[in-house]
Amino acid sequence: MPDEHRQDTPETAVPDRCEVLVVGAGPAGSACARHLAVAGVDVLLVDQHDFPRDKVCGDGLIPDAHAALRRLGAYDEVAALAQPVAHVRCVATRGAHCDVPGTLSVLPRRQLDHILVRHAVAGGARLATPVRFEAPLEEAGRVVGARLKTAAGVREVRSRWVVIASGAVPQALIAAGMCERHTPSGVALRGYVRNDAMVGRIAQLQIVWHSRMKGGYGWIFPAPGGVFNVGAGLTGSHVRTAAGKGRMQDVNLRRFFDAFCDVYAPARELMAGGTLQGELKGAPLRCSLIGARWSRPGMLVTGEAAGSTYAFSGEGIGKAMETAALAADALIAARAGGSSADDEAVRARYEASLEAIKPKFDLYEIASHVNHRPWLTDLVVWRANRSPRILRRMSGVLEETQNPGRLLSWKGIAKLLLE
Ligand SMILES: Cc1cc2nc3c(=O)[nH]c(=O)nc-3n(C[C@H](O)[C@H](O)[C@H](O)COP(=O)(O)OP(=O)(O)OC[C@H]3O[C@@H](n4cnc5c(N)ncnc54)[C@H](O)[C@@H]3O)c2cc1C
Repeated sequence: MPDEHRQDTPETAVPDRCEVLVVGAGPAGSACARHLAVAGVDVLLVDQHDFPRDKVCGDGLIPDAHAALRRLGAYDEVAALAQPVAHVRCVATRGAHCDVPGTLSVLPRRQLDHILVRHAVAGGARLATPVRFEAPLEEAGRVVGARLKTAAGVREVRSRWVVIASGAVPQALIAAGMCERHTPSGVALRGYVRNDAMVGRIAQLQIVWHSRMKGGYGWIFPAPGGVFNVGAGLTGSHVRTAAGKGRMQDVNLRRFFDAFCDVYAPARELMAGGTLQGELKGAPLRCSLIGARWSRPGMLVTGEAAGSTYAFSGEGIGKAMETAALAADALIAARAGGSSADDEAVRARYEASLEAIKPKFDLYEIASHVNHRPWLTDLVVWRANRSPRILRRMSGVLEETQNPGRLLSWKGIAKLLLE
């Protein structure tokens, strides 16, 4: 994609020491680094890639992402570039749809993540790229830093804390000794298509369910500049074997995507009349705050590395930043109390804050069963179009002003259909 907003990001060499080392400069890592740096913490933020860099994503920003961006002070810069969107369009298997109002926008991750990384640096974090986390340094069972691979060779950095924000690809988690499940919760594939004729015709975040895409859904999200993010994905794509190891089910993402284009005319039209920018690319998702340890002495895991993506919707940018803020809060609180080396205080506070939001993730996990029973979407859309109250409730869940349990639990779904 053209990168009109490319700006150089100041980078530093890898120092010998820092107070907190943050591994990964996606939304989670950059948010964590920014919160810490603004509070006066000496932070080193590293990523294996130089910025700007691409990240396979739908690029949809839902209300929780907007809230997290506001808290970071990055909202205005993002809003100035993003494509504003007013509705999520849910398209059911028989083609009926309902439009759920919400505070939404779309900005390619190449631009979003670059803004966030610059924001972390502007807040006082030191950035070093391309730098790859290889392994933790340990003394008496406590993490005391990390071994990093840089262009100049392998370096050791000592730090009081290491925050792992390395996303859904598990290698860093495994190396850190924090991975409990190697396989992802799901996989998805996306591409960018330029199609000026479709501008205005696809003006919502469109999500499409169909029996030929059992277990997931297809989407089209309008990005700025006549470009559309189009993709398809599914959760539950990996199963555990009797030996406890995960393996991929017989899923061909490309076929899944082709099925989306077969069954949904706007997707077909978009692809046929548009120009694909680059390739279709796939990536894993880690959902429901499971699959990794959240902490160990000297180390916290945050963002999608900790499973902070919602299972049902695959949305995770906002929750990555939110969990990262919780990690930063725990570190800052212990520091304020003069106990930044007090592992138990930091770990207990962080783990308790994740436990507090876990029930919401569990509801999205339950709701993801809708993806496996796509016929349910026909009933939900039918009901939503007849009841402004139900549509308001769906909007309330999206905006996080309503308890999602009233809608996303089995009881909620049953009530919705019977009310
Ligand atoms: C196809 C697809 C579509 C999606 N669509 C949406 C959507 O529309 N909206 C939404 O909200 N969410 C969406 N998600 C989920 C979203 O992408 C994630 O929730 C989000 O990126 C998580 O942010 P993060 O900062 O935790 O991890 P990431 O964004 O993955 O960032 C991790 C960073 O860590 C770096 N890293 C990894 N290992 C190392 C290492 N060893 N050393 C140094 N650096 C390392 C990586 O280079 C990367 O920059 C989608 C996901 C997929 C796969």
